[in-house]
Amino acid sequence: MTGSGPIALFDIQTQQALIRADLDRRIAAVLDHGRYINGPEVEELEARLAAFCGEGVHCVGVSSGTDALQIAMMAEGIGPGDAVFLPAFTYTATAEVPLVLGATPVFVDVEETSFNLDPSDLERRVALVRAEGRLRPRAVVGVDLFGLPADWPAILDICRREGMFALDDAAQAFGAALDGVRLGAWGDATALSFYPTKTLGCYGDGGALLTRDAERAELYRSLRTHGEGRTRYEVLRTGMNGRLDTLQAAVLLAKLPLLEGELAARARIGARYDSLLAGSGIGVQAGRSAGAVNARGLYTVRLRDRAERDRAAAALKAQGIATGIYYPRPLHRQPAYAEAHRTAIAGGAPSLAVSEALAERVLSLPMHPYLGDAQVDRICAALLAARG
Ligand SMILES: *Cc1c(COP(=O)(O)O)cnc(C)c1O
Repeated sequence: MTGSGPIALFDIQTQQALIRADLDRRIAAVLDHGRYINGPEVEELEARLAAFCGEGVHCVGVSSGTDALQIAMMAEGIGPGDAVFLPAFTYTATAEVPLVLGATPVFVDVEETSFNLDPSDLERRVALVRAEGRLRPRAVVGVDLFGLPADWPAILDICRREGMFALDDAAQAFGAALDGVRLGAWGDATALSFYPTKTLGCYGDGGALLTRDAERAELYRSLRTHGEGRTRYEVLRTGMNGRLDTLQAAVLLAKLPLLEGELAARARIGARYDSLLAGSGIGVQAGRSAGAVNARGLYTVRLRDRAERDRAAAALKAQGIATGIYYPRPLHRQPAYAEAHRTAIAGGAPSLAVSEALAERVLSLPMHPYLGDAQVDRICAALLAARG
């Protein structure tokens, strides 16, 4: 498709048209068997996702990406007195969960080019928390923002050295890989979200936990069902209602055959954006590892300043091209987290300058697997013209 028609940020309807018959068949099968909770589709999906991520990976379907993060932290017993380190530049759910559990989020700055957790800043803040001695450094939540894997080798090194739990928030990055290993096999646990616009999305809320640790997987199964034991009315621990609906598992099973092709399309579109914007002075998101496979959920660029960003967004809008700002505020500036940020490192936390600058400068461009080359060309031409 060329022309000058509108271009949406996401497109989840084109895909539906491709698989509509299978979707209808699978949804009808659930209506027929009636096992809306823990139906056979849930187990089938878990097996398929685990296999997709590599040998030895277990998968536990849960009710959302947020609940995946919460269940993973509950399983570690994370709570009051624990410091959970996470990037200041991410979606709010990453920071919400430690607070819900009574733990303290400690915001870490991100790298200017990858937009992901800066390992050297992580080390600095862990050392500050240790020196103060009030909170126990307990976990790191690394986020693979917009589908670009974080620097997992470096994050895991720090976690091993400091005895911390490494939780991969891969809500935006299902399908991405680093050095030939898919996300899901990197962290001690990995949280996925199946929110409709994620790289693998259902038609409602859904999520999953991945881990290579069989005992953790068992704990996650128990926690997602009120902490149940071997029988339904044996309650071993405080859990929650965190199951994945059978209907959503059926939707995801219908989508799985398209996934590899869609990931390849996302990679191809990302590379086209990269090459069209190369040398323009517009900052493109790039990881440190040449061995990374990105699962681009959003294509996000960094402009010179807020004025240039807002000018570009307005110019694209005038041409029918949708954009988004992910995220307009770093989390430590959110009213809900400001207090936690102020008190986490009482001696005064180092600045989060990169996260603050990115919040003013980033602009997300249309990204979905059904975007045509001519559309990408049009978006880039409009963006370059808007900068003047
Ligand atoms: C979407 C998202 C979540 C939360 O997922 P839900 O399924 O919406 O609960 C968590 N972290 C990140 C980085 C996300 O993008």
